[in-house]
Amino acid sequence: MSSDHDLGALGDRVSAARAAAEARGETFYPGASRVHLAAFPPRERWDDWVELSSRAWPARDERHYMLVPTTCFNCESACGLLAYVDRDTRQVRKFEGNPEHPGSRGRNCAKGPATINQVTDPDRVLYPMKRVGRRGEGQWARITWDEALDALAARIRAALAEGRHNEIMVHLGRPGEDGFTERVLASWGVDGHNSHTNVCSSGGRTGFQFWMGIDRPSPDHAHAKVIYLISAHLEAGHYFNPHAQRITQARENGAKVIVLDTRLSNTATHADYWLSPQPGSEAAINLAIASHLIQAGRYDAGFVRRWWNWEEYLAQCRPDLPRTFEAFQAVLAELYQDFTFEYAAEESGISAAVLAEVADVVAGAGTRFACHSWRSAAAGNLGGWQVSRTLFLISALLGAVATEGGTFPNAWNKFVPRPIHVPPHPGVWQDLSWPEEFPLAQNELSFLLPHLLKDGRGKLDTYFIRVYNPVWTNPDGLSWMEVLTDEQKVGCFVALTPTWNESAYFADYVLPMGHGSERHDTHSYEQYDGQWVAFRQPVLRAARARLGEPVADTREVNPGEVWEENEFWIELSWRIDPDGTLGIRQYHESRARPGEKLTVDEYYGWMFEHSVPGLPERAAAEGRTPLEWMRRYGAFEISRGQGAVHEQEVPAVELTDATTGGLGRVYTAAPAPDAANIVPMGAPAPDEAGRRPVGVLVDGVVRRGFPTPSGRLEFWSSTLAAWGWPEHALPGYIKSHVHPSALADDQLVLLSTFRLPTQIHTRSANSKWLDELSHTNPVWIHPSDAARLGVNRTGDLIRVETEIGYFVAKAWLTEGIRPGVVACSHHMGRWKLTGHSQVGAGGMMATVGLQREQEGWAMRATELVRPYSSADPDTARIWWSDTGVHQNLTFPVHPDPISGMHCWHQAVRIRPAAPGDAHGDIAADTGRAREVYRRWMAQTRPAGHVSPDGTRRPRWLMRPLKPDTAAFALPAAGPGSGQGGAQGSESGRSPGP
Ligand code: SF4
Repeated sequence: MSSDHDLGALGDRVSAARAAAEARGETFYPGASRVHLAAFPPRERWDDWVELSSRAWPARDERHYMLVPTTCFNCESACGLLAYVDRDTRQVRKFEGNPEHPGSRGRNCAKGPATINQVTDPDRVLYPMKRVGRRGEGQWARITWDEALDALAARIRAALAEGRHNEIMVHLGRPGEDGFTERVLASWGVDGHNSHTNVCSSGGRTGFQFWMGIDRPSPDHAHAKVIYLISAHLEAGHYFNPHAQRITQARENGAKVIVLDTRLSNTATHADYWLSPQPGSEAAINLAIASHLIQAGRYDAGFVRRWWNWEEYLAQCRPDLPRTFEAFQAVLAELYQDFTFEYAAEESGISAAVLAEVADVVAGAGTRFACHSWRSAAAGNLGGWQVSRTLFLISALLGAVATEGGTFPNAWNKFVPRPIHVPPHPGVWQDLSWPEEFPLAQNELSFLLPHLLKDGRGKLDTYFIRVYNPVWTNPDGLSWMEVLTDEQKVGCFVALTPTWNESAYFADYVLPMGHGSERHDTHSYEQYDGQWVAFRQPVLRAARARLGEPVADTREVNPGEVWEENEFWIELSWRIDPDGTLGIRQYHESRARPGEKLTVDEYYGWMFEHSVPGLPERAAAEGRTPLEWMRRYGAFEISRGQGAVHEQEVPAVELTDATTGGLGRVYTAAPAPDAANIVPMGAPAPDEAGRRPVGVLVDGVVRRGFPTPSGRLEFWSSTLAAWGWPEHALPGYIKSHVHPSALADDQLVLLSTFRLPTQIHTRSANSKWLDELSHTNPVWIHPSDAARLGVNRTGDLIRVETEIGYFVAKAWLTEGIRPGVVACSHHMGRWKLTGHSQVGAGGMMATVGLQREQEGWAMRATELVRPYSSADPDTARIWWSDTGVHQNLTFPVHPDPISGMHCWHQAVRIRPAAPGDAHGDIAADTGRAREVYRRWMAQTRPAGHVSPDGTRRPRWLMRPLKPDTAAFALPAAGPGSGQGGAQGSESGRSPGP
């Protein structure tokens, strides 16, 4: 323990160190050290930073580095990195944190510095490859970039010329950027953007979207009094490191952390209250807490009166009552009176007393209640989207919306700069991504693509994947493999990837793309109450530019012929439309040099000059252009303390010719002001009269409000009510497909979604440091279940049986999981196929045989990971052989009929492994997978049945790459018409009448 005297001395040393640095004209980044060494190199010395070589010790061998910023690409947090570029060798020596990045503030998780492993990975793809022989045979020939570009351009040009726009698709895993790919596709006139979001976060997003018109929360963790997580933000969640450091900051200031996680995750271990609920009961817990706030009058009635759409609710659902707030308060109490602690205890298995204690803590938070729900329960369960909708109900009751220590709509803490060219919205609708059965889906029904292709709803001429590995990542990966090897369904399959993966094996072209330090992107994420823009860049290109050696093409500095997508897309677009007659070329042309191709320097230079407020001035103060400034520092904070944007008064100048709707929504005929970064996302579209919502009347004042149809927070969703789901229009509880009542006596619930802090999906597996830390995924099982099932000890092999097959894994007996529930991390079980001799297995891929059998497919490892010789001596030191099991292959698709989210949790049976079973064995029947698909599709309510206005989807809902208005019209007989069926309302518990 430090005495006061010590602390005083410490403060003196910090002050002295700061003063000394400032006397030298240097930035001082205080470190944690007791002697107060700075935490980071001062930015004034980033051109020539000197370190002593550790290997030369005790000799003093100085190494001189240029420090060049970029952003990490190993998860979606986009933390700042500093590349240490050796001035002598011109190679990157290591990556550390960038102290100038406002989100990550110089800190990283283990995956950030491990970027160096990916760059030097001896197994990475270095040259464009084209398949030889049949798809999936594993034979490849090296080709030139020109050959690849010309072949792809010719295919796409022909498809566009023949009106086959819907046969072009680019399927993204993690985008890692804000809008470049969508802009390219819009320039081609195709609705070809597909994403991974419906196997990730769309359930979580949907609940927030129906409340706020914005689909993500931005909790101000650092200033919260109570932090409530249905997520894993202290280990792996959305904005892991930036959020974790702010949660830690809040805890140091006395904040209480409440974590709902059935598994004792690393996040749960840091909680003040760890609740381990029965999977799928989380919404019932949220509602019991909300009900306590309501029944006890511990909510912010002033906020509810001003900002909830209670008048609309009364008008539409309770016309029998007076339209007064007092009447609504009475109804509110009535609606949620049955969600008692006892009811939630029955559903969740957590005692009513504990729930009451937690509710009391929540109530005490007031407006300093920060919350997050992202994947986790919202991604696991049928109706999981109600988990985030009921969580935000608590925020909205407390008035903890856009308050210090509360939760903001993410759009207010994010900034997307306008690009140099903005193509129009495409005029087509892609049914393969947005099928008619899911008019309210938050994102593309990406994981259904194999089934929609098998249904014969369309085909793909040219299909790109990028930072995406659908065979491995999605449920039912063998159905993916079946369609990706069928040239009638997918004419040409292109994998844009830095590394080999389970999908690339079946591609026609494998085109090498750069890692986080080898490519350009911009991004901005909600990590605190502020707005920033960060710049990912090829660090060797930036280093050369700093040395006065400009580089025109990123391939000049990347290893082999590794490229970056932005230059690739520009070049491909140029070749699709070489003479400009298709109207594409104009969006990829230089403004400064008409007729010539746009360069990435001009693209980003224009953006930073014209679309990032304050950056040109800051750069000019240092005598730099905005692009030079961003290349040097990597991130720019635009503003801090956005505050309650919804409360802002709309200036009179915006209210010219304004009209007010019945419930206070204010419209104007004038074009929307350029406020794209104030309320940019999900803003209601103009109505048929061309009016634009501009604000909402609150107590006689027109305020900015929320981008919902009502302009208020939507307690009652007119959209859900009008589009076929009136029984779920209020925050409520939908019983999961793995609710105990849906399980057979011998079934358990499998949680399959959790991440490990040291791996992320398929992007980090080529990092040797991370592989050594985390390479296997045993099944967590409670000792009581293990004893009952005849599993004797940790390491015993078990069969986990799903609806379509089984996998064989090792058991891990632990009391860190609820009885009746098992869990298996999804990271592991990477594989390469036998005979694919050009693919390196690295430290994470078993070599497997894949056989077609009567009951489907069977996979078995033929060779485990082992040490091997390569350019990297560490590959000879691999000491592990167990790389886990690929459980996702044994899961069928479970599309939630409202959000479209794949509901990951599985009802499984567990048995000791059968004689002859081997660890990692997979059996999966793609025929049975089709049956499960049809069963879930029967729960949908297609737009053709429920659309109130003849459109496919409410126009106000968010949608990446929105088509133009005409494309929203339903066709006379939609491709999916009649395939869905109404879901009964027995599956859930809606509040009140
Ligand atoms: S992997 Fe780690 S360092 Fe990289 S962006 Fe994510 S949290 Fe940040």
